[in-house]
Amino acid sequence: MGRRYQALALALGLCVGLTGCGASVSGLSPVDTEAVIAAQDLSPEHENPSTGKSLRSNAPTHVQVPARQNGLPPILSSIRTNDKVVFLTVDDGYSSNPATATILERVGVPVTSFLTQAAITENREYFRTISESDGQAIQNHSVSHPHMPALSQAAQEAQICTTSKDFKEWTGTRPWMFRPPYGASNDATQRAAKACGIDYLVNWSVSLPAGHLRYQKGDKLKPGDIILTHWRDDLPRHLKRALRDVRRQGFKIGALQDYLPAK
Ligand SMILES: [Zn+2]
Repeated sequence: MGRRYQALALALGLCVGLTGCGASVSGLSPVDTEAVIAAQDLSPEHENPSTGKSLRSNAPTHVQVPARQNGLPPILSSIRTNDKVVFLTVDDGYSSNPATATILERVGVPVTSFLTQAAITENREYFRTISESDGQAIQNHSVSHPHMPALSQAAQEAQICTTSKDFKEWTGTRPWMFRPPYGASNDATQRAAKACGIDYLVNWSVSLPAGHLRYQKGDKLKPGDIILTHWRDDLPRHLKRALRDVRRQGFKIGALQDYLPAK
């Protein structure tokens, strides 16, 4: 009994030691808890004691808004800028791991969430809460994650417009960016996106499939890179390493909507 009590006390002591442990961390698996602890190492209070958010890039003073392509929303995989800034985009929405939200909050990282309507059925409150923090945005990633070029323009419009209308009613903000599932689009996608009020089709130049950044070109980050990852239960571990890498390479994370404002 004594030993068991000691173990329980240790567990409770750990919980007390973690700020804000109560509601959000109590349901985490051991791996997730470890991620939260590790995330505290990321918290750069020593660099910026007033905010503790040195990985967040300031809003740019000047942006060159990408022009339409033949009158249609442009397809982008990175942002044209000289700022040492990259962007974090997180897709789909099948996970609502509180450890991810904790890391984003503690490190002050803006994220653009490209959410699939069918993926967030159980997780709407989680994403709405995240989206209410400064710098966070919810954008459109279709109703059911189809390969868009396989669909007619009308069917593509249904995928994009249905999600935009739903998200507008849900969050109060109509999406103005669309990420085609698998990064696959055709002319009809651009026309459908325009009809649904989308200003930009946003792909990516770097991905985070697991613990390391994977570059489409070269072997390091470039100004304006857009990083793709997914809302998955193991995201905290991967995010922790990726954010360290971003910092090590001298970059900060910007809010994509600052560089791609609604038109
Ligand atoms: Zn996706």
